[in-house]
Amino acid sequence: MSECLLKIENLTRKFGGLTAVDSVNMYVNQGEIIGLIGANGAGKTTVFNMISGSFRPTTGKIIFNNIEIEHKPAHLICRLGVGRTYQIVQPFTTLTVLENTIVGALLKYPDVSAARKKSIEILKLLDMEERRDVKGSNLSLPELKRMEVARALATEPKLLLLDEVMAGLNPTDSAEFVNIIRKIRDTGVTIILIEHVMKAVMSLSDRIYVLNQGKLISEGTPEHVSNDPVVIESYLGSR
Ligand code: ATP
Repeated sequence: MSECLLKIENLTRKFGGLTAVDSVNMYVNQGEIIGLIGANGAGKTTVFNMISGSFRPTTGKIIFNNIEIEHKPAHLICRLGVGRTYQIVQPFTTLTVLENTIVGALLKYPDVSAARKKSIEILKLLDMEERRDVKGSNLSLPELKRMEVARALATEPKLLLLDEVMAGLNPTDSAEFVNIIRKIRDTGVTIILIEHVMKAVMSLSDRIYVLNQGKLISEGTPEHVSNDPVVIESYLGSR
């Protein structure tokens, strides 16, 4: 059996009177690709924000690689091996693709030449090496999304959290991203994917969790979840 890399127990986050994430339990095994889906405002990004240390949970535990991380600062969680991308890409527009990637790598490799070497390796994996000297401000949206993933990968995560990397991409670019995500998993990185592009989530995910108004309403294989009447009624039916 695969080893459990991430365990979330009774995770809750309130914002004033709103319970954005409500008693969520999840586990992620080493090497899995997990889909996290649900309607707008369901609480998906808030779950990522708590795993990556941007927000503290109101209650609940997050155990990553056998360490409780829910009260640790974001930079330490990153060092422990959690990398993430953001829904809205956040490039350094005046830096090149390679320099943007090095910013991530420096967290793991304080030596600049080692950070550069690692960054070039990652850009090759993401088919971005030819664009490495282009400034962030001159990239297309699909390229910006890849650069965002490159920067996250440069921190050498064990677990990579991808927040809507395919949003705004056309079907061809999304299909290319699906291949890239598989390549990343094949290097040994475990992935949780928030995504509204259902074709991509269904084909990539080993298992899927479905959130609705902060609560988990279904979990299981893509086949199970896509045939679950509760999911069809609250989310998939409207897509
Ligand atoms: P989407 O698919 O639109 O990105 P989501 O499932 O990621 O949605 P979240 O961004 O996690 O949803 O938001 C869940 C709920 O929590 C929403 O009602 C949102 O308005 C609220 N929320 C999120 N962050 C904050 C915050 N910092 N302060 C107050 N409310 C917040």
